[in-house]
Amino acid sequence: MTNSDIQDIRNDFPILTEKIHGKNLIYFDNAATTQKPRCVVEKIEDAYYHYNANIHRGVHYLSQVATEANENSRGIIANFIHAKNNHEIIFTRGTTEAINLVAFSFGEAFCKEGDEIVVSVMEHHSNIVPWQMLCERKGMKLRVIPMNDRGELLMDEYKQLLNEKTRLVAIAHVSNVLGTINPVKEIINIAHKNEIPVLVDGAQAVPHLPVNVTELDADFYVFSGHKIYASTGIGVLYGKEKWLNLMPPYQGGGEMISTVTFEKTTYNELPFKFEAGTPDYVGSVALAEAIQYVEKIGLQNIDNYERELLNYATAKLSEVEGLRIIGTAKEKSAVISFLVGNIHPYDMGMLLDKLGIAVRTGHHCAQPLIDSLGIPGTVRASFAFYNTKEEIDTFVEAVKKVSEMLR
Ligand code: PLP
Repeated sequence: MTNSDIQDIRNDFPILTEKIHGKNLIYFDNAATTQKPRCVVEKIEDAYYHYNANIHRGVHYLSQVATEANENSRGIIANFIHAKNNHEIIFTRGTTEAINLVAFSFGEAFCKEGDEIVVSVMEHHSNIVPWQMLCERKGMKLRVIPMNDRGELLMDEYKQLLNEKTRLVAIAHVSNVLGTINPVKEIINIAHKNEIPVLVDGAQAVPHLPVNVTELDADFYVFSGHKIYASTGIGVLYGKEKWLNLMPPYQGGGEMISTVTFEKTTYNELPFKFEAGTPDYVGSVALAEAIQYVEKIGLQNIDNYERELLNYATAKLSEVEGLRIIGTAKEKSAVISFLVGNIHPYDMGMLLDKLGIAVRTGHHCAQPLIDSLGIPGTVRASFAFYNTKEEIDTFVEAVKKVSEMLR
């Protein structure tokens, strides 16, 4: 992408011209949430101003338009991740709710005492805690794939963990702390040879890399709208029809029913069986709009450009005295976690903020990973396609300045 392409893109994001403490905003907290392009905000406004009505239940015009918009969005999302069927796309509130849904419903259908779930050491709490809750409920065990000191999973150890008690493997596509892109296709192949299904946490992958759930042969793939330039409160669970059909509903009420009597309720077909209550139909429309925006730029272009930013920032940051990058996997997404000497990440983050630079500090909701590294947390800069090398230059100068102040 050329500089003028990037400038055009930046013009689509009004927030990027904000001043923070009198300085130009440099937003490097994209792994936490992304900023929203004008078209997404306008789409939300359009929905509320022109066709807001509860979906699926109304015979009236507005309800039909809103229902159609919601289902049209489902189709756009299915195409985007190459799902075979629209009904394999379940709308959730986000990645966390999607994983909780699978941990509950898959757990109810397929898990029993003594069974095991395999996760990795680099998982976000959202891909640890729901499985721990399942383990507590059923008397099961959580097994953990370790990594090497670059932040790459140890595949031999992974193979050793799988056995006849393993019910499911749950793995991040991309680590939100280390940026490691895990070899999910290989992980899935190995699990499938043992007839074990795999859930992929795609929260940090879908905004940055082309994802094809059919090619990956993922059994479940989950992500959040707000990390891919859409609104908060909307997310996606992709599940293979064969699993979703065998799993009981997660929550009751709303459109998930077929018939209800006081004696017995029968459930709706997919995807509605898993969408209890009034869905976030405006969120789904916003998500489809964001996806179309991203598709217009092209995931491959985004991936290439963000890798350029990653390499540029990695080289520049390496010049800072005493700076250590946490996570140096060969396959990395545009996330850089680092520490400078023994400066506390929180202090670094606070002072960078005063210079208008938004980074994240702390354990990044991956406490077991941070503990395993024996560090108090990291400073994390995470990039998006609207970031520039000039911003990285300013950021690196700021890191140098703050390091000198705090040393
Ligand atoms: N998984 C990963 C890898 C993440 O980075 C995040 C958020 O940072 C989540 C899960 C949770 O996403 P959400 O809070 O949108 O449900």
